[in-house]
Amino acid sequence: MRRLRRCKIIATIGPASAKEETLRALHRAGADVFRINMSHASHDAMREQVRMIRAVQAESGRPIGILLDLQGPKLRIGLFRDRAVKLKPGQTFTLDSNPEPGDETRVCLPHPEILKALAPGHTLLVDDGKVRLYVVEAEADRAVARVDVAGEISNRKGVSLPDTEIPVSPMTDKDRADLEAGLAAGVDWVAVSFVQRPDDVAEVKKLARGRAAVMSKIEKPQAIARLEEIVEISDGLMVARGDLGVEMPLEKVPGLQKRISRISRRLGKPVVVATQMLESMINSPVPTRAEVSDVATAVFEGADAVMLSAESAAGHYPVEAVATMNRIAEEVERDAYYRSIINAQRTAPEATGADAIAIAARNVVETLDLKAIVAWTASGATALRIARERPVAPVLALTPYPETAARLAIAWGVHALVTKDAHDIDDMTRRAAKFAYREGFAFVGDRIITVAGVPFGTPGATNMVRIDFVDEAAAAAAKAHCATLEKEPAD
Ligand code: PGA
Ligand code: MN
Repeated sequence: MRRLRRCKIIATIGPASAKEETLRALHRAGADVFRINMSHASHDAMREQVRMIRAVQAESGRPIGILLDLQGPKLRIGLFRDRAVKLKPGQTFTLDSNPEPGDETRVCLPHPEILKALAPGHTLLVDDGKVRLYVVEAEADRAVARVDVAGEISNRKGVSLPDTEIPVSPMTDKDRADLEAGLAAGVDWVAVSFVQRPDDVAEVKKLARGRAAVMSKIEKPQAIARLEEIVEISDGLMVARGDLGVEMPLEKVPGLQKRISRISRRLGKPVVVATQMLESMINSPVPTRAEVSDVATAVFEGADAVMLSAESAAGHYPVEAVATMNRIAEEVERDAYYRSIINAQRTAPEATGADAIAIAARNVVETLDLKAIVAWTASGATALRIARERPVAPVLALTPYPETAARLAIAWGVHALVTKDAHDIDDMTRRAAKFAYREGFAFVGDRIITVAGVPFGTPGATNMVRIDFVDEAAAAAAKAHCATLEKEPAD
């Protein structure tokens, strides 16, 4: 099964989709990666979802990426005596460390380090920004705020602090436990919520020790301020428009989406556009024109992946939502303007062998109208540097490691396959042609380009490009090998 688009689709799992047959239907409809949201899933539920996804993967023979999304430090106020209070415009309201139930004048903010970090002028957004206050007086254990946008606030509502750099790691104890459980279950990507500093990402990478790739969710102004450094240290990025649109003015989100996408592209890191992409499809089998346009914009921008949240997790039309994204991406990538928009975003290469060869491969493909770029890759890095060029031909990534193939499921234009390492150049080019034919990328008489590092088994040594015909022998070998992801008959 090959996709007829380069942009990938991520579907969040939830009550509407956490069944094996639904996951299978979502994968068939176009989901390349599944996201497990640890804000809602228990460890047992997470493990069961991983098991079901791997079963669907084994059956389809295509690698599927699993993204474990850690909840992060979602701040919440405490309880009220009467569940909720109505705040009036202009009144003062105090947040303090007193655990007693709150009233119209005060409530507990059970995060001492946050109370300490608040300073006059800082904004407090309660309940996704529905109520807005700003701090007028701050002491170590209490902050007096004035109500700017009034409304009701109730028990344990979330609080966002767009101006306050929170002096804690974005990893709570729950996140650490969730991370370990996810790594043990074999997830491919871990998403870190509310990243503020490059160190936040470094900490998670240290904990993950290479067992999963680490994605930074960009959803705080503090992360925007240090975006370049954060992109550099992350393996991937998410434009987390939900919280980003709470913490920053909504009208800034489209420009930030472009900025995050461009920097990620320049540094060769996969970037995901997330949240409310087809929101109305939670309750309707057809999206709005505005939503279709939003998904299309992300595809035109060359995003590696577009993501569904509640649409696939809790909506009434999860499969339709994935199918809709699939159709939009296919259509945009066929559009006459698509190529020129994608090409206009190209940036200068780094002075490395891998980048020089990635550009060479892209040029050769265009000059000779080749059908595929076959990249032999151990870590996936070579495939990502080629994808960074956004070449016209699809990238077939051949790797001996199932983990690499599953991680690459998120990357633009990459069709990954697991196969044992090649033993010599002849074997390498023969199998490249065989897979290009078998996977439906090339016919007999077409040409492909193969990229590799020789001698084999030395990571980071991409140093070779070759042009080959797909010949009758390759077609015969492909027909003889009805290989699955796990098992490939001996050559
Ligand atoms: P969330 O992250 O769904 O975990 O909040 C995505 C976002 O904020 O957009
Ligand atoms: Mn978020």
